[in-house]
Amino acid sequence: MTAVNETHALGLRSWVASANAEHTDFPIQNLPFGVFRRRGSGERFRGGVAIGDQILDLAATVASGVLDGAAREAAIAASREQLNEFMAMGPSAWSALRLALSRILRDGAAERGRVEGCLVGQHAVEHALPAAIGDYTDFYIGIHHATAVGRLFRPDAPLLPNYKWVPIGYHGRSSSVVVSGEPIYRPLGQRKGLAEVPDFGPSERVDYELELGFLVGTGNPRGEGIPIENAESHLFGVALFNDWSARDIQPWEYQPLGPFLSKNFGSTLAPWVVTLEALAPFRSPYRRPAGDADPLPYLDAAENSANGLIDIQLEVLLQTKKMAYSGLGPERLSRSSFVEAAYWTPAQLVAHHTIGGCNLAPGDLLGSGTLSGPAITQAGSLIERTFGGRDPISLPSDEKRTYLEDGDTVVFRAWCERNEARRIGFGECAGTVLAPKRI
Ligand code: CA
Repeated sequence: MTAVNETHALGLRSWVASANAEHTDFPIQNLPFGVFRRRGSGERFRGGVAIGDQILDLAATVASGVLDGAAREAAIAASREQLNEFMAMGPSAWSALRLALSRILRDGAAERGRVEGCLVGQHAVEHALPAAIGDYTDFYIGIHHATAVGRLFRPDAPLLPNYKWVPIGYHGRSSSVVVSGEPIYRPLGQRKGLAEVPDFGPSERVDYELELGFLVGTGNPRGEGIPIENAESHLFGVALFNDWSARDIQPWEYQPLGPFLSKNFGSTLAPWVVTLEALAPFRSPYRRPAGDADPLPYLDAAENSANGLIDIQLEVLLQTKKMAYSGLGPERLSRSSFVEAAYWTPAQLVAHHTIGGCNLAPGDLLGSGTLSGPAITQAGSLIERTFGGRDPISLPSDEKRTYLEDGDTVVFRAWCERNEARRIGFGECAGTVLAPKRI
């Protein structure tokens, strides 16, 4: 696990003034990676690093001549249209670039004059996905979500007996993962009511799922699992992730092989990937509730127990079309915490995914599963928040919602905050539900 170092120092300030604002997501201690271009410019997409309300253009930074050695090599790889090549380089390259960027962006840096011209305002850009996602796997580590949803389907046995032994997951669909801001089209599918014959049409129960996406850095050869002790060194970083779901299509189709059309119509990934190194000051122990058995040995390690989780706060906001027209901002629906939600750690997901010999590749995406707390105000999906659609939410626009309607925009935010560290944030993961393109 990455140690705290000079790039995390609480007192570090940047000559980019907006990076020193108290509530910015992107102070100099964060330095998340993404892919961008000037909006409407037709430029090629390329790697950048968020700093305050700006983006440091890595290709321009390389061209300015301020980087050398391992940091320059890493920056060249991170300047491509996708970050996969940079992700494949591994923690020493990621760390070398982070340190160099931290030094050139600090107050008093001699390079300031040459780097200032490499900044692009975030308001003026559009993003692409940070990586080419070869494979997307969705886990189910939110135990309060698993229990609450399980209770709706199986009141007597909400949590299945495998849950506390196996990090439950399934192979998702990567082609429909889109970057924040892209529309989500309401899916069509079969719904089974009381009638013998299922009906077909647009889903009437489109929901969101508040998740974190873990992006794989270096992969592993097929046949060689990644031991839990090394698992985190294979993870490049974390981004907010919305795994949209159709709750009326899901119950009819999911047996016996799992969800299909109810999940594959779209998933939204935030543009900014916060590196594991940036998260070093926010590590938390991994403890199972009293009375739960220890994980099997291949999922257990001293370091995983000591620091396996990350103290990330999460929130869900909703803005309907009417709210937007009336000048009402997004309304917070819930707030939760990764530590409270997670029954398994990121390292355990990597170790479990690969234990049978499955090869991970740079840019692969591991969804956490819905990250809900035990209280209704901590629900990470509408199926929980509205008790399966029975208890509508009232909005400031005098509208009510059980599930999402066309024109609704869902926004996720997340941040890490501790006394001894600078607050860092994850930016936004936003998507608007639109009517089906074709029926
Ligand atoms: Ca999910």
